[in-house]
Amino acid sequence: MKPPFQQALGIIRQLNRHGYEAYFVGGAVRDLLLGRPIGDVDIATSALPDEVMAIFPKTIDVGSKHGTVVVVHEGTAYEVTTFRTDGDYEDHRRPESVTFVRSLEEDLKRRDFTMNAIAMDEHGTIIDPFGGQEAIEKRLICTVGEADARFREDALRMMRAVRFVSQLGFSLAIDTKKAIIANAPLLAHISVERMTMEMEKLLAGPFAAEALPLLAETGLSTYLPGLAEKGEWLRRAAAYRWPWLAAREERWALLCHALGVKESRPFLRAWKLPNKVIDEAGAILATLAAVPEPAAWTNEQLFLAGLKRALSVEVVRAALTGKPYEPQHDELRRRFAALPIKTKGELAVNGKVVIDWIGKPAGPWVKETLDAIWRAVVNGEVENEKERIYAWLMERSRTQEKNC
Ligand code: ATP
Ligand code: MG
Repeated sequence: MKPPFQQALGIIRQLNRHGYEAYFVGGAVRDLLLGRPIGDVDIATSALPDEVMAIFPKTIDVGSKHGTVVVVHEGTAYEVTTFRTDGDYEDHRRPESVTFVRSLEEDLKRRDFTMNAIAMDEHGTIIDPFGGQEAIEKRLICTVGEADARFREDALRMMRAVRFVSQLGFSLAIDTKKAIIANAPLLAHISVERMTMEMEKLLAGPFAAEALPLLAETGLSTYLPGLAEKGEWLRRAAAYRWPWLAAREERWALLCHALGVKESRPFLRAWKLPNKVIDEAGAILATLAAVPEPAAWTNEQLFLAGLKRALSVEVVRAALTGKPYEPQHDELRRRFAALPIKTKGELAVNGKVVIDWIGKPAGPWVKETLDAIWRAVVNGEVENEKERIYAWLMERSRTQEKNC
């Protein structure tokens, strides 16, 4: 058995020893069958949450009401969830209540897609009552059961379907796609936060260029924040190199650019992203507009952006143009390393020193003077050394007086 499963095997065996059924389930089994890197290993069991907590010395009750207990095994946390069926769905959202059941098959039946409804026992035997392996072979995303009903139960599954297209490069099965088209308006019942989580996974997937036009094609985009009128733009977003981007801020910046969003802030706020992400994506976009080509960076722009953001700007530009970003990254790293100071804090003088020198009361002139100083230092006009800066400042005020 592969390492991530091997490590968790102790939990399955322990549950089995106590007379309960226990299996690996969900994304990890799918990814094993696909030969993809395996993420979190999840376990499903016939044991009730209290029974799970009684067996293992280290557990965390993360949602025993819904059947989930975290078992800490050899330093790693695993979600162990009791076989369950979902309660009644209200408002096309995940139900509040669940019913525990004692059969694996019933548990697998409530899962969204056949590829996600496969279990594996302690011997590595696959239990696949809904044809998940066949779907994986055909690279198809198919709902478990009738697609229309499954999307009406929980409309978020439609977004999940498209994000799996982006992550796996699979296609939507015909019925599944038709049902998404028919039920897209139900997305309006889903909270923005849950849609954003799926959208972030979609943007980060290796096949985002295929998934983004699909949002338009299925009509889902009509019900997503700020995307109602962006169908054509989403189709064109297929041309960009999304997988080149490594950070979420870069992805949101590229999305804004790709969609022709004039003001990124309200658009990103509508997705309820953290302010840090909104600010950074906005700064990347502003710098991208201010530096029209990789060769156009001035020392001042590079200093103000900082290396990290400057690299982000170039990778976003590369994703837009399709030109490799490595040469620009190398060049920016070299130029940044050559800057005499990397932050304003490294300047040899501060406001207090400048006030002492000039002998005027503090005022806006102090910041203006300090700005002039760091610019001169960054541009190599004066060395970052107190006496040199003093001499430069005196010379500057003499010229300024003459100019007046
Ligand atoms: P990832 O690799 O992104 O974690 P995953 O398949 O593990 O993918 P999760 O969101 O972690 O996805 O969910 C774990 C499992 O729970 C899924 O594989 C699926 O069986 C089930 N599941 C999750 N969300 C839903 C849902 N909305 N409806 C039905 N089943 C779901
Ligand atoms: Mg998972």
